[in-house]
Amino acid sequence: MLYECIKAKSLLSKKEMLAEGWFHVNRSLNAYRGCEHGCVYCDGMSEYYHVDDFTTHIRVKKNAPEILRKELKKLGYSSQRELETETLWSFLPDGDAKQLAMRLPRRIVIGVCGGVSDGYQPAEKEYKITQQILETLLDFRLPATILTKSKLVLRDLDLLKELNRAAFVNAMFTITLHDDGARKIIEPRASSTPDRFAALKELRRAGIPGGVMATPIVPWIGSTYENMEGLARDAKAAGAEFILFGGMTLKPGRQKEHFLSVIGKRFPEYLDKIRAIYADDNRYGIPIWRRLPINTMLVGHQICKKVGIRDRSVRHLLPSESEANYRVLGILLDIVFYQRYMLGKPWNVSRPFYELSVKLERGVENLVLLRDAGHLKERLLISDEMEGIVQQVLETGSCDYLNQLLGDTPEESSVERAFIITDGENL
Ligand code: SF4
Repeated sequence: MLYECIKAKSLLSKKEMLAEGWFHVNRSLNAYRGCEHGCVYCDGMSEYYHVDDFTTHIRVKKNAPEILRKELKKLGYSSQRELETETLWSFLPDGDAKQLAMRLPRRIVIGVCGGVSDGYQPAEKEYKITQQILETLLDFRLPATILTKSKLVLRDLDLLKELNRAAFVNAMFTITLHDDGARKIIEPRASSTPDRFAALKELRRAGIPGGVMATPIVPWIGSTYENMEGLARDAKAAGAEFILFGGMTLKPGRQKEHFLSVIGKRFPEYLDKIRAIYADDNRYGIPIWRRLPINTMLVGHQICKKVGIRDRSVRHLLPSESEANYRVLGILLDIVFYQRYMLGKPWNVSRPFYELSVKLERGVENLVLLRDAGHLKERLLISDEMEGIVQQVLETGSCDYLNQLLGDTPEESSVERAFIITDGENL
């Protein structure tokens, strides 16, 4: 393994993401270029990211914490020392304090690892870049999301607890294979499946929110009922707030060639079937849906229902948010997610829900106050139907539209049948 220390010119992703329904982050960063975990399906290998020898040559961004500090300041955030001046607010007249608060930027959630490298890969043991990044976020009181395949995250447990108290932390583990034998082939240098569940359990016991990203589910190898149900049951036992199942993309070029060569050697019985799924060389690696053995999200949804665990990642209430707005935003994000990824509805159906989610995340007045003043519709520029949805969530906390959407999904028994029908027969 080759480690090379480099100087990064920038760190945070340029564009702020809003209403991002998978990881609930606004900006992301990578402490390393390349990843030693060496997962055979890794997207980072593709030419798209311009990183040669992705799994064997790790570039360590030694100056990442320093760059992050500069970038956060540029975005208008203040370090803890500077924030101490906030305590002066209590002595300011009400109007002045409000004006000062208006000038502070909204707190964003930073995706610390899990972008195009794992921040807790083996190099982190020595270089501690992710640890320093978390310390920087603690100084800035900014929320963080972690997505990892490594139990090394437990080294920073105390730091994560402190950051969670000061701002917020969401710790997620990617876990895709219940059988550790298959995991050793597919994710060779990541922590074992039992170790990841054990680490998640410890984080949850320490009061840190978190769950499982069961994605990518590799067709045929990971998409069996036993694998998916086993993951859901272990996630629940570890105290996960959710388990989200998702499919696999395979970009033509290095990523696809490497993946297929490993499958050819270690799982030759699936090679032709998997090759057929990605036969059209879509530039984003999107599979030919009708050739997939199952609809991963739909089956995942039914398994989660059976096991009793949420199948959608949780968007948590951030310290600066209003509870009412947060509730409505959570439901809107669920609607968009289920419409788009599980039920395959066209974009124009989801668009109004997405657009309102973006507005809410950018920040609008407390929706309860707007409703009481009769200004919901004109302030949010929404239709009568959407106003009805918002009103219902504010009044009851639930949403008939979402329940109906989920009611449209097939029953569990038909999903189990789908496994039997498609198992090896649909190509
Ligand atoms: S942990 Fe993530 S970034 Fe690292 S090799 Fe695996 S898929 Fe790629």
